[in-house]
Amino acid sequence: MNVVLLGAPGVGKGTVAKRLSERYGIPHISTGDLLRSAIDRATPVGLKAKSFVDSGRLVPDEIVTELVETNLRSPSASKGFLLDGYPRTVVQADALASFSSVDRVLNLVAPKKVILERLSGRRTCRKCGVVYHVKNIPPRKAGVCDSCGSGLYQRSDESPEVVMERLSVYENETSPLVDFYRNEGLLVDVDATLDVAGVVRQCVAAVEEGVSDE
Ligand SMILES: [Zn+2]
Repeated sequence: MNVVLLGAPGVGKGTVAKRLSERYGIPHISTGDLLRSAIDRATPVGLKAKSFVDSGRLVPDEIVTELVETNLRSPSASKGFLLDGYPRTVVQADALASFSSVDRVLNLVAPKKVILERLSGRRTCRKCGVVYHVKNIPPRKAGVCDSCGSGLYQRSDESPEVVMERLSVYENETSPLVDFYRNEGLLVDVDATLDVAGVVRQCVAAVEEGVSDE
C-alpha cells in the first residue's frame, strides 16, 4: 500500500503517520528524517546534501529524489510506505511516478485559524524540551514546566506571524500538487480538525477503499 501524505505544518501529519504505520506495518518515510539520518551517517548522498544544508540553501530535487528512491527500494518498504514531505512539487511527483506507484494521497486539511491556534499556543520547556499548549495541555503554573520547573518559551517559528507565513508558503507551493493528484483520482481530503482517532478513521476508510477499487 503506497500512500503519500500531504498537509500543512501543524495539521498533525506526524501523529497520523505513526498510527497508520503501526496499523499496516509499513514505514513512515519522512524526507526530513531521511536527510538528517543520511547526513549523520555521512553516506554519499548525505555528504552531497550536507553542503547545501550547511550553507543554508535548499537541498536540490535530484538529491532528495535519490534519497527517496533508495528508501522505497529497500526491503523495509516492500509492503508499501507512508511518504511524508515528498513529493512537494509536480516535478517531484513525476519523478516519483517513474520509480514507484502511488495508491492513495491523503490530504490533511484544516482551516488556517485552527492550525494557527494549535501552533501559536505551543510552549516549549527551555531545559527538558517538553511541549505544552496554553489551552489544550496547559502546565499547572503558567509559563513553568511541570516536570523540571524551568521556564517555557514560544519557538520563533510558532509565533502567529511566522505561522501565517509558513501556511501561505505551503499553500502556494503545494496547491498545484493537490490539483495534480486530484486529477489523477488519487487524492482524498481528510478533515484534520477532528481528534486523532477521527482523523485516523477517515484515513483508513480512504486507504482501504483505494485497495478494494483495484
Ligand atoms: Zn522542563
